[in-house]
Amino acid sequence: MTRLLLGCIADDFTGATDLANNLVRAGMRTVQAIGVPDAPFAGEAECVVIALKSRTIAASDAVAQSLAALRWLQAQGARQIYFKYCSTFDSTPRGNIGPVAEALMDALGCDFTIATPAFPDNGRAVFKGHLFVGDVLLNESGMQNHPLTPMTDANLVRVLQAQCRRRVGLIDHAVVARGAEAVRARIAALRADGVGLAVVDALSNDDLLRLGPALADLPLLTAGSGVAIALPANFGLSPSPQAAALPAPGGLQAVLSGSCSLATNRQVRYAIQAGMPAFALDPLRLARQADAGEDIAEDALAWATPVLARGNGPLLVYSSADPDAVKATQGALGVDAAGALVERAIAAIARALVARGVRQLVVAGGETSGAVVQALGIGQLRIGAQIDPGVPWCHAHAQVVGEAGEPIDADLHIALKSGNFGGDDFFTRAFACAAA
Ligand code: ADP
Repeated sequence: MTRLLLGCIADDFTGATDLANNLVRAGMRTVQAIGVPDAPFAGEAECVVIALKSRTIAASDAVAQSLAALRWLQAQGARQIYFKYCSTFDSTPRGNIGPVAEALMDALGCDFTIATPAFPDNGRAVFKGHLFVGDVLLNESGMQNHPLTPMTDANLVRVLQAQCRRRVGLIDHAVVARGAEAVRARIAALRADGVGLAVVDALSNDDLLRLGPALADLPLLTAGSGVAIALPANFGLSPSPQAAALPAPGGLQAVLSGSCSLATNRQVRYAIQAGMPAFALDPLRLARQADAGEDIAEDALAWATPVLARGNGPLLVYSSADPDAVKATQGALGVDAAGALVERAIAAIARALVARGVRQLVVAGGETSGAVVQALGIGQLRIGAQIDPGVPWCHAHAQVVGEAGEPIDADLHIALKSGNFGGDDFFTRAFACAAA
């Protein structure tokens, strides 16, 4: 059995990938599991990140799922546990960050842990316990209007205290700047004072790297993905290309885009201008086909089959559209129904493309990625080298059904891009990176 060094529990899917990507870049071989695996870990990795969907569910459900993840990670020998949440600390007074952190502390029998969403590479800094997003405080960043987790207070000590039974304290920047010894001394003082969780200031990667050694002996860490850059060194690991090594890519190539973000719309336009064969999905036509009981993947596949047969590089199928078109579609179909229909179509197209030999697949959109990963029966992703910040190539086993009804077990390279990530040339450059 492989004994894990680090076991991570992430409260959403793209956040899990972001964390795994940081660990790989710092030299730790990492696998992302979709949900709690139902069998012991058989692969080769020093870390497994379990991706849950627990950010906005009821706190009691988030606790139950997180404890199930903990039990699995403990059974694989994980020496340290990392609970990963969003770098904007998405939560409400009911949770779920505080309740999950405390349930993990109880289960691990540990009396102290840290909490910090600092992620300087992404513009998230914590100073005097206050979270900044870019140049503004969290509660002025737009997050105060979030539909599910409005963040109206940037003081994380206060925010976390409202969610916790234990006392919440602060390890402030003056301490972090003096290095690991000073942080250890501060932790000892906080502990002696009966503080159970401490928010940690960090403004830069240097701060996180100074902090790292002081965290080596804590059974549990809670953080965004920033702290991860400092952890592999605690286990004697250093950055190396081997940590990101994946099997050689092969097979046909495709991009599926269900994201309508500004960045993705730019990427779609760029790819089309660069000559990538492209097919636009029309959600209203999909709705008519669905109502008539027809196959909603059929048009795209009728177009894609001869393009794939030519074998001339990647093709693109997209529903991405500008905000006016999206609003019009949502007006006609309803927001949720439009989203669900497009996701269903793209998931079905993904299955059929893999059945037709696509083995390198880029998917744009967070929800869209979730739908595709589920449709392809993917349980685990090995994390490879990053294409753009936060978006690595991954390797996975997909299970689909062939045209004659035969089961196909496909080795697949897949990149899952959340909406706003990636440069304009992402779709073309991704395949060049895979080949490199
Ligand atoms: P992002 O990461 O950019 O938020 P997601 O995939 O998470 O992307 O979300 C995009 C949502 O919009 C999905 O539910 C998708 O099915 C839906 N969608 C995609 N294209 C359209 C469209 N043309 N009209 C309406 N909804 C769409």
